[in-house]
Amino acid sequence: MIPDHKRVGAGIRMIELCALASGSNGNCYYIGNRHEAVLIDAGISARRIISRMHQQNLDPEKVKAVFISHEHYDHTSGARVLSKRLKIPVYLTAKTYAAMYSVHRPDAPGFFEPGSEVSTGSFIIHPFLKNHDAAEPCSFRIEYNGFNTGVLTDIGSSSDQVVHHLNRCHALFLETNYDEKMLWEGSYPWLLKQRIASERGHLSNDQAFELLENHSGSQLQMVFLSHLSAANNTPEKAMNRFREMVNKYKILPTSRYAPGEVFTIA
Ligand SMILES: [Zn+2]
Ligand SMILES: [Zn+2]
Repeated sequence: MIPDHKRVGAGIRMIELCALASGSNGNCYYIGNRHEAVLIDAGISARRIISRMHQQNLDPEKVKAVFISHEHYDHTSGARVLSKRLKIPVYLTAKTYAAMYSVHRPDAPGFFEPGSEVSTGSFIIHPFLKNHDAAEPCSFRIEYNGFNTGVLTDIGSSSDQVVHHLNRCHALFLETNYDEKMLWEGSYPWLLKQRIASERGHLSNDQAFELLENHSGSQLQMVFLSHLSAANNTPEKAMNRFREMVNKYKILPTSRYAPGEVFTIA
């Protein structure tokens, strides 16, 4: 049954979701309401983040803060300049700040602790630890007026925390990094293949599907398939893996090359 977005969203004034960039070379996710927005990660240039927002009729002036998940450059490379350009804070953990390239470090960082919520305007950001090969990798659940959006990428293996937050989400940016066959039969060096598939690497299409099948809540409406590898996955393969769920949720692919479709709940 196709969920009735209007009915499920009753009481929510308006929320817009967009993957401005998603993939293993750059990530930036937009979560906004009528007056405010937050970005999760800024892993493409500030110029491209702003131009992609304009392209999708999203107002950069609404962005109140950027939250950084971990230090890898595909999540951090635009953070410092974006913060200066939009005059907004960048929130991250102290360990992430210490581990990131100094040229990407924001001039005036705001620090959060995994497990402690942060309020930004009318959004409540819940950061939580995940399994990934970084100093202090976090994922986020963003709560607004009872509507929860999860940004769950760069996860080597599930955990109680991931399950706890995923289960509460109405919408998800969910990592589908690689197709198992493409990874193992592909040209990457053996050690890199092992790193990607490890407990501290990335979620495959199959792992993401299982996570969703076993742990999604009944309120889930929308899933963006996110952080696809260019070498080890295709949007078609990821979408095909989730084809049996398309009558249950709206499922959209994301892209590294262009901003994704804006999903709006009115
Ligand atoms: Zn990444
Ligand atoms: Zn990473």
